[in-house]
Amino acid sequence: MAAIISRFAPAPTGFLHLGHIVNAAYVWRETRARRGRVLLRLEDHDRRRSQPRFEAAILDDLAWLGFVADAPPVRQSARGDIYEAALSGLRRRGLVYACNCSRAAIAEAVAPTKTPPSGDGGRAAASPAVPADVELRYPGTCADRGLTERHGLGLRVRLEPSVERFVDLRHGLQEQRPSEQCGDLLVRDRDGQWTYQFAATVDDLVQGVTLVIRGDDLLASTGRQLQLARLLGRDQPPEFLHHPLIMKSPSQKLSKSDGDTGIRELRAQGWTPAQVIERALSLIGL
Ligand SMILES: [Zn+2]
Repeated sequence: MAAIISRFAPAPTGFLHLGHIVNAAYVWRETRARRGRVLLRLEDHDRRRSQPRFEAAILDDLAWLGFVADAPPVRQSARGDIYEAALSGLRRRGLVYACNCSRAAIAEAVAPTKTPPSGDGGRAAASPAVPADVELRYPGTCADRGLTERHGLGLRVRLEPSVERFVDLRHGLQEQRPSEQCGDLLVRDRDGQWTYQFAATVDDLVQGVTLVIRGDDLLASTGRQLQLARLLGRDQPPEFLHHPLIMKSPSQKLSKSDGDTGIRELRAQGWTPAQVIERALSLIGL
């Protein structure tokens, strides 16, 4: 059997909080139980929000908690050539096109794929004010426009209609239709930044990651990563395990603004690493 390789992949856009610790605990426990290796990847593809001081704090907190990776950390900001090479392969096959659409324009063009709240008589027309967390299916507006790639335009990868089936290690058999969920996938945004879905999928392929452990909020986007990985030439997809999130209510993920506690604060209050990890896991009922 091939060796297990997983990764912990925080974005240095803030300090670590208890939600991250749930993920780290899952990553290290599940990987060690399989005698696998853990990689550390700093997902700083969002150059506007990533900051060196957050990265330094994350590395310091991880060391304090005893979460030790098996290789030096890699940074997505240093991997532009790798993403560019992956994109070139797709481009040569005619799978990439430039897109001039803003989120507001897409919202105007389509109804959100999320079911609108009941009681509106089904008249919930999409508007530019669609909340940022609502998934919009890109309708393919620019697919055949033949726009020349240039700064200021996004780039999308064509997704053929497909049914992606996979067995999540916690949720069991899943079936997803990415082309119906999200449409052609944005891989580079209009500011020239690689998107999370593209950078993470390329990294998982190039780094040989075989086990992806992440929160339930990303379960629905697994199918598009599987499809993209296949387009990139990956014949054996990674396994996925999606774990519970710390919730504010049964339907709402706890966020930092809700008071999800920062590890820095707990350290300052005298908590031990074991207490912090125990606290994080107790919040998801473990
Ligand atoms: Zn477009």
